[in-house]
Amino acid sequence: MNACQTWRVTTSFEEPAASPLTALLLGVRGSDSKQDLKSERGVSCPGDLPAASDPDLVERARAAKAALGDRVFVLGHHYQRDEIIQFADVTGDSFKLAQKAAEAPNAEYIVFCGVHFMAESADILTGDHQAVLLPDLAAGCSMADMANGEQVRAAWALFEELGIAGDITPITYMNSTAAIKAFTGEHGGTVCTSSNAERALAWAFEQRPKVFFLPDQHLGRNTAVHAHGLALDDCVVYDPHKPHGGLTAEQLRDATMILWRGHCSVHGRFSAQNVADVRAEVPGINVLVHPECKHEVVAAADFVGSTEFIINTLNNAEPGSAWAIGTELNLVRRLAAAHPDKRVSYLDKTICYCSTMNRIDLPHLVWTLESLVAGRVQNQITVDPSTKKWSKVALDRMLALPALGD
Ligand code: SF4
Repeated sequence: MNACQTWRVTTSFEEPAASPLTALLLGVRGSDSKQDLKSERGVSCPGDLPAASDPDLVERARAAKAALGDRVFVLGHHYQRDEIIQFADVTGDSFKLAQKAAEAPNAEYIVFCGVHFMAESADILTGDHQAVLLPDLAAGCSMADMANGEQVRAAWALFEELGIAGDITPITYMNSTAAIKAFTGEHGGTVCTSSNAERALAWAFEQRPKVFFLPDQHLGRNTAVHAHGLALDDCVVYDPHKPHGGLTAEQLRDATMILWRGHCSVHGRFSAQNVADVRAEVPGINVLVHPECKHEVVAAADFVGSTEFIINTLNNAEPGSAWAIGTELNLVRRLAAAHPDKRVSYLDKTICYCSTMNRIDLPHLVWTLESLVAGRVQNQITVDPSTKKWSKVALDRMLALPALGD
């Protein structure tokens, strides 16, 4: 790892260029789109929303929030727009926000400005007297949508047929549906986040010799190879769209890590070429990326870690140091604004937001809050009791993970 390198200080953030993929179209937008209530992609918002051009939106949101007082608790994920973050009572990554929701038992309403799986986790961890609301039901996560319960059960049935299921501990990333969390809970596994994946993997290998990692192949591979010293050849990728996952019985028996073929459409865009380009442009720059990036990007970077790690690293960086950051653009832009004494740039040359995170905007927030003031609960996210029971088992195992070295 490099120490912080000093570089010419700039106070302006260089905006990457817009591209046709500026916001990846991950959510369902129109009434003609296929709508699947079971999908993370959700449904288009049925609400009677205020116009985005209404000049009073900020004031309306402020007034509604003030009227609700302590009855409402607004959570804002780090990838949310600035116009939403200004109303968040707390900001954080998905796990921190779920924890914060659980620590607010007096709030009747938890308004989750994030995506669907996060609101589900909040519902699992909060009391029955609390309602968790997602301002736009189309705010899903494409990665979470890459693994559904039926596909995962089919994979497990194959492992049972091959006689290897008893050797496998399933781990699911926080970025998965409640159904997948419940599956891991029911099969002796746990949930992990990008902050504790190393600990979760160490725990899993203490239980059984093999791990089935869902749904982000990159986080699974990066953790296995960089933190646990496994070889790339110890990992195989199970493709749910191919017979037997596209793998032979021998490959499945030999593998230490069976990775689900899922990825984040935002972090998956960064390339090793981006790292080479930024290093050629700014000698000595520190490259800091999220572990949802591809293995070759993580291998070429100087630092890798969760969004909380990225924020803390920037907070502790020396004035004058230069940083290229590989994570969602809303967060990178806010970091650049918060650190005018450092050179902060986006790792890619073209803009790419998480479009589903961006579904939550001021009109949706105003509609949600004003509806609550009027006594109407909109877009409540509820997890059924059986799914809740087993996903809580998996989440509780994660909370009980021993620290490394203990
Ligand atoms: S940034 Fe990636 S993992 Fe996060 S919500 Fe968007 S698509 Fe899902």
